[in-house]
Amino acid sequence: MTCKRLWLRIGCGIFGTIFAAIAAIPACSQAPADDSLVFVHANLIDGISSAPTLDATVVVSEGHIESIGHGAAPAGRGAVIDLTGHWLLPGFVDAHVHVGNLADARRALRSGATTIGEAGVDHFADVGMRELNHKGVVDVPDVIAAGYHIRTHPADAYFTDFPQDADLMGGLHGTEAVRRMVREMVSRGVNRIKVMATERAGTPETDPRIRVFNDEELAAIVDEANKTGLWVVAHAHGNEGAAAAVRAGVHCIEHGTYVSDDTLRLMKEKGVYLDPTITATVDMTDPEGEYDNPILQMRGRPMLATGREMTAKAWKMGIKIVAGTDTTYFDKNNRSLADEMIELAEAGLPPMDAIKAGTSVSAEELGVDKRTGSIRVGYEADFVVIDRSPLENIRHIGDVVMVVNNGRIALNRLNVAAHP
Ligand SMILES: [Zn+2]
Repeated sequence: MTCKRLWLRIGCGIFGTIFAAIAAIPACSQAPADDSLVFVHANLIDGISSAPTLDATVVVSEGHIESIGHGAAPAGRGAVIDLTGHWLLPGFVDAHVHVGNLADARRALRSGATTIGEAGVDHFADVGMRELNHKGVVDVPDVIAAGYHIRTHPADAYFTDFPQDADLMGGLHGTEAVRRMVREMVSRGVNRIKVMATERAGTPETDPRIRVFNDEELAAIVDEANKTGLWVVAHAHGNEGAAAAVRAGVHCIEHGTYVSDDTLRLMKEKGVYLDPTITATVDMTDPEGEYDNPILQMRGRPMLATGREMTAKAWKMGIKIVAGTDTTYFDKNNRSLADEMIELAEAGLPPMDAIKAGTSVSAEELGVDKRTGSIRVGYEADFVVIDRSPLENIRHIGDVVMVVNNGRIALNRLNVAAHP
């Protein structure tokens, strides 16, 4: 029997080449490898508590959190990772993305997003990536799939997946048509339904204030989704469409730029989440990025002010706010969920609440809060390590130096020591 040994060294970073721990991980098939990770001296933000736990020890085994405590690493376990001076947080939960392939999914993960909530992609790439993650592929995040957006004119790609719906190519009108499209999504195993309740902001020829779908159609979409235990999230910038979606019983308003105080009150009353995706509007106002268009730059500037004011109001009213980037994480992607948490903090959320918005509250909105989104015993070991305190300055949250996905290290910038 040959048994290769893989030597893993984790630097402590204080004295340059001094290593905090050296662990041998047997990689032979006959003996079960101890794949555990032990994080010591971590400043722990668990995503739930209102204060951090300093100098915490977290043991991870078989992809899950085995224990959270204090003191020295238990003897005989796997790799010990010394986080002195660093901050251990739940992996980010990006509640609104359009990640359509594995390269982009890997990029999302390396930015810290260990869970992503899809909001419309082609050919059910989201369902496939979710299944890969659940089969143990750890270089992609876990995925909450939505399939195609339900909109009056579905994406062209939809009709190549569902040629039997050719009669809908002229548009989805009436309750029977929308119910049929929801059923097609259900048949492919999505987790949630995404509906367009207003036109888009990110294309120059559409007007984000204009409502689409009438009350009956929106109610039919929610009813058809609820029948199979799914929930609906609604893209809505304009108030009329957003209010109609809230009345119809959607679970979350995506964007919400022009939402009125009355609609916010109704959201509060009905427990509807808000995902303001502020960085997407920031991206509209800038050259390059995903929206590189002068018309969108002009549109974006006032939208950004309005969206930020709306978010501040919603927070004061006690509406549950989640964090989403609305990005594809494409190869020129220049923002991450950290940027959205910074935006939320600037809209008035205390740093700890901005962090919860991007972790435990987003996990709750995506229906995965019983297994991820916070650091608790028994939960999936989905972590990010941040270089400096995000509580002192929320902008530090963008400095992700380690990502752990289901107990496996997906990114490691901690070991900066030179190779001997
Ligand atoms: Zn979107």
